[in-house]
Amino acid sequence: MAWGGGGMGGGGGGPIMGGNAAGRGAGLPFGGIPSELQDGVDTLLADEPVHPDPDLAFSQRSSDQERKRLTLTRLLTEYPRTLIWASILVVVISIVAQLGPKLTEIAINDGMSPGHKSMLVVAVVAVVYLVAVLVTSVSQRAQVRATGRLAAWVMNDLRVKVFTHLQRLSLDFFTEEKAGVLMSRMTSDIENLQQLLQDGLWQFAIQGLTMVVITVILFLTNVRLAFITVVLILPVLILISLWFRRSSERGYDRVRDGIANVLADLSESLHGVRIVTAHNRQRHNIVHHRNVVGEYRDANNYTAQINAVYGPGTQLIGVLGQAALLAIGGNMVLHHQLSLGALVAFFLYLNRFFQPIQLLVQQYNTYQQGQASVAKLRQLLDTEPSVMESADAVELGNIRGAISFDHVDFGYDPAVPVLEDVNLRIAPGETVAFVGPTGAGKSTMAKLVTRFYDPTSGRVLIDGFDLREVTLHSLRRQLGVVPQEPFLFAGTVGDNISFARPDATTAEIEEAVVAVGLTEVIERLGDGLDTVVHERGQSLSSGERQLIALARAFLAHPRVLVLDEATSNLDLQSETKIEAALDVLLENRTAVLIAHRLSTAMRADRIVVVDEGRIVEIGSHAELVAAGGRYAEMYATWERQADLEGHRAITR
Ligand code: ADP
Repeated sequence: MAWGGGGMGGGGGGPIMGGNAAGRGAGLPFGGIPSELQDGVDTLLADEPVHPDPDLAFSQRSSDQERKRLTLTRLLTEYPRTLIWASILVVVISIVAQLGPKLTEIAINDGMSPGHKSMLVVAVVAVVYLVAVLVTSVSQRAQVRATGRLAAWVMNDLRVKVFTHLQRLSLDFFTEEKAGVLMSRMTSDIENLQQLLQDGLWQFAIQGLTMVVITVILFLTNVRLAFITVVLILPVLILISLWFRRSSERGYDRVRDGIANVLADLSESLHGVRIVTAHNRQRHNIVHHRNVVGEYRDANNYTAQINAVYGPGTQLIGVLGQAALLAIGGNMVLHHQLSLGALVAFFLYLNRFFQPIQLLVQQYNTYQQGQASVAKLRQLLDTEPSVMESADAVELGNIRGAISFDHVDFGYDPAVPVLEDVNLRIAPGETVAFVGPTGAGKSTMAKLVTRFYDPTSGRVLIDGFDLREVTLHSLRRQLGVVPQEPFLFAGTVGDNISFARPDATTAEIEEAVVAVGLTEVIERLGDGLDTVVHERGQSLSSGERQLIALARAFLAHPRVLVLDEATSNLDLQSETKIEAALDVLLENRTAVLIAHRLSTAMRADRIVVVDEGRIVEIGSHAELVAAGGRYAEMYATWERQADLEGHRAITR
């Protein structure tokens, strides 16, 4: 269902569609566009670029290209032309930006010294200087654009790649605890990398190259002074920088841990505020928080101290070095071993020489964080789905819908069995209800039918095909799943109903709506099928959400339906509606029902009683009641309760 462009079939619409044509056409969540604005809107829409569906094929198995290991180099070389262009610009910037002092030397020596006074030389040098500054500036602009573009595209591809990988992974991967970690992979790790690719790496390259260029120029200017600089001053600077890097890494680790602890403690206290108050733990909490905050403060203090040593320390070394060089260089000028211009140039270069070292140390941190993020993302991308499509999986043709469990054992953790030796045959078109206590393994059996997991041993078959031998796509195309708590996605109610079949026509959607008895509900919503679902459908009642999920399943026309009955207490009216919808939905389909209410189980063709991972009874309602086993017991309890409630309702 399209948001723009009148996907809902223009002006006519069916009886259950509300809102006026204009509002619906634009997919806007209000009554429509005032007629005086219509012309403007039409003009705007006419200029809107068409966004065709990207030509994207999703396959359950990753391609060889996608399986290549993620490294920083591989990321960078994905767009070789931009990379080469950016590298050329980096070289140009590193060289051209360093021409200034050399030009100053020429101006002093050949334009301003006694005996060499020349306005022309000074003027020419000034113009060349200006050109050099312009070239540097233009190159810097081009470089920032090129690296920004490179980073944007590389990160775009990486985001899609990680997301595609997540779509492939099996359900066991997405446990509650992982969601937070995954979000941080997709946000902070990707941002670290973006920072590195956009700025960090290039600054690193420019500063490194600048140092090389300046060293060469220093040696060309005067070997003796250059030698003193490189042998005396540089090693001290490098040593102090190495010390700084090690200490600051340790310091920033402590700062990061510190802030994480502060936030964790804060969040826990806020979430648990009722329990804290109820149990008089406020004082204890404050003491604990004071300790956590104290550790964070100490960590910040530590990094401040290191910075206080490093910044002024390197400056001091620089100044001491310059003083020594001034004495030596000045002496050389006096003895005519060095020109005045060369000494000035030397000093100007010297200042520029120390700066990159400091910047390089800073950029190194960015580099390390980026590398750590690459390693974490690589680990994520290297995770294999636990339910793999076999290389020679066959397309499952149209099935009749016979399901069998053949000596199935299963455990989420193979060491802890959840299902043991389950054998069951479900005929095409049959409705089977699973009943039993919570944790018995009912949902687990259903998850094996949809191949969300594979059995540890034994086989699950559909029309005689082992599920592991067919492609996941062809299998799931013919399966419908209605979960206990239906998930509604952002979009309109219509979008949500046609979720499994986005190409469904309005007439088909309406047919589904009528079939499951949703008509009244849709009519009540302001914009009919175009009503936008907010906050995962929180504005709808749970019964209404259930009906939408049933309409979704109906529209998909699956041969086999797996339905986890909602446990939430529905009012009698909703329950009746849902039961009627189920009758329509289950007709002519094989269905596995996880029944939480015996009233639902009773309607099934057969009932399977599951307990502690084993099937303990199978039969129709009447058969099982007659047999006097577990089911009969459950039924008797249920009847007593129903009687009691009925009695209460009457006496009330
Ligand atoms: P039922 O649907 O009958 O209430 P389930 O099939 O959901 O029971 O659960 C059967 C057993 O498997 C329970 O002991 C439950 O704790 C365990 N279990 C369910 N889901 C998972 C999971 N994702 N990881 C580990 N154990 C699970």
